[in-house]
Amino acid sequence: MRRIAWLGLALLLSVPALAEEPAATPSPAELMSLARSVQERVAKLRELPFKKTIRFETTTKDKVRAYLLQSLEEQYRPGELEQEGLAWKALGLVPAELDYRAFMLALYEEQVGGYYDPKKKTFYLAEWIGAQLQEPIIAHELCHALDDQHFDLSKFNDRIRGNSDAMYARSALAEGEATLLMMMDSLQQAGGGDVDFSLLDLDGMLGAAMMSLQAQQFPQFAAAPEALREALMFPYLKGLSFVSYGKKRGGWKRIDRAYAELPRSTEQIMHPEKYFDERDAPVEVPLSALDRKALSGWKMIFEDVLGEFMSLQLLSSLEDDEARRATAGWDGDRLRVYQKGDALAFVLLSQWDSEDDAVEWAGAFAKTVKTRDPGFEHQPAVRGETRMLFTDPERRAIIVERRGRAVLVIDRLPQDLAEEVRKLVW
Ligand SMILES: [Zn+2]
Repeated sequence: MRRIAWLGLALLLSVPALAEEPAATPSPAELMSLARSVQERVAKLRELPFKKTIRFETTTKDKVRAYLLQSLEEQYRPGELEQEGLAWKALGLVPAELDYRAFMLALYEEQVGGYYDPKKKTFYLAEWIGAQLQEPIIAHELCHALDDQHFDLSKFNDRIRGNSDAMYARSALAEGEATLLMMMDSLQQAGGGDVDFSLLDLDGMLGAAMMSLQAQQFPQFAAAPEALREALMFPYLKGLSFVSYGKKRGGWKRIDRAYAELPRSTEQIMHPEKYFDERDAPVEVPLSALDRKALSGWKMIFEDVLGEFMSLQLLSSLEDDEARRATAGWDGDRLRVYQKGDALAFVLLSQWDSEDDAVEWAGAFAKTVKTRDPGFEHQPAVRGETRMLFTDPERRAIIVERRGRAVLVIDRLPQDLAEEVRKLVW
């Protein structure tokens, strides 16, 4: 799942208003005048002027649903979203029986609290949201509108096919900025002084606040597989830390510059020093050797860069610390997902900063096999072989092999074919 539009997520945006009593829904006229006053505050806080007037319109849940569907259709070719869902299933991140498309739509629908449409240059205010939630949502969305006027958001609004990792990184820049601005505005309205956001454990605070209200207010979010929740929140939470870090280094000017040289990986977002201080650019990892051979009946349905963030999701059955350590040192990867009938398999080749990092990842991934694929047994290593091999009674194989700084994972292909693929890749 990738972001499909500049949405204000109600779940996240409701956090600053948590302590307040619910207030009545404002009238359209009240909403408009509220929007105008927030607009002034946003420009001041962001230290950027609005160059053009923003159009405001109020919108209904039905219209939001229509907009979501239209955005999906623009960003995904027919069948593509379903294939993305299958990829998540192949990776074991969502249950096999989940209707991915329907679930994602319902999740977005539940979460939308307003949105900015960069094509129409119009900000849509949600009619059904109570007054105390409107201000943070408006501040957040107006930040997108302001950025659009200065940095042309539509330029990088589109999905990057084959590199979700870069897409997540871009979206974290914009969503992190809008979330920071929203929090600054909320604090200022509450009479609070200057807060150094880079010193706070924002992820932890927001995460805890969200967990406490998700179940009653946001059943769809509460029911979502953990990886989907993490992915939905990533741009807002990690983006917030990322932008706070950059702003502390060089003020808003430093963030302006980030739009001219966009972050390229979730690694850079998760470790802001790898973007702002010592730039660590992701390396291209080719799997094109596999183009040379048809995988007898297996069809490639999905190709992507997984990135540090999604690699971390793959290790969710391990302790947090262990998983984090094992995915740090990521340097690049390429994933291909294959389908044959109902069967799904994947090939993942990754590159790490050092051999130690590669060893750590290979070991950590192998540890997750037991939980993810309980039918597979670890086969004793053959002398001289560098790979770990797991097989099941149907003679399917999972291979984890490290060579130098590279790690190859082949997951659930028939054993003979897995061997062929392995030789081709190396
Ligand atoms: Zn946003």
